[in-house]
Amino acid sequence: MKKSKTILALIIIMNVLISNFLDIEAISFSGGFSPRIVTNLYYYRATNESYLSNAANNWNNISSKVHSSSNSNYYSHVYITESTSGSSGVLGRIVPYKSSCTWPLDPSERISCFTVANTTETWNYVYLYVYVNNATTSTSQKYTAVHEYGHVLSQAHNNDYSVMRQGIYSLTAPTNYDKNSLRSRWGN
Ligand SMILES: [Zn+2]
Repeated sequence: MKKSKTILALIIIMNVLISNFLDIEAISFSGGFSPRIVTNLYYYRATNESYLSNAANNWNNISSKVHSSSNSNYYSHVYITESTSGSSGVLGRIVPYKSSCTWPLDPSERISCFTVANTTETWNYVYLYVYVNNATTSTSQKYTAVHEYGHVLSQAHNNDYSVMRQGIYSLTAPTNYDKNSLRSRWGN
């Protein structure tokens, strides 16, 4: 009995570690972009893959308060790119930044004005990475991109039928759960 409890405890600890390892940035999202920005969020896709744009666009037409569209790098709030430098097991991540400078900024200004923000602060700019050295299939890449863009919109992990649940690679678009979650965060 004692032994099985120890084994169970170890399994639970391992699951937590594995979950954190898969996606380190997402615990709670009381912060994020301001409502004003989310209504008219510009993303810049740094690489050619259309699934990266689709992931952003898939979150449109759910809440009237949330809309993303592509724009030039200079005007973007979100920089989306594939990368091959993901740590082992990490499919994707976002890195939010805050700034005291006035938007829009050109990329050289961002370097001096921006510092990494946490999920409780107000963001001005976000880098979104899909690590294709770990997300190697088309489906896992689509899932990772739409999942990470959910984080851009302050969506946290859950255990429901959701693109924000870690590891459901078959989901490549927001579910009803996600749509309700987005509306409850930003409005109908
Ligand atoms: Zn995540």
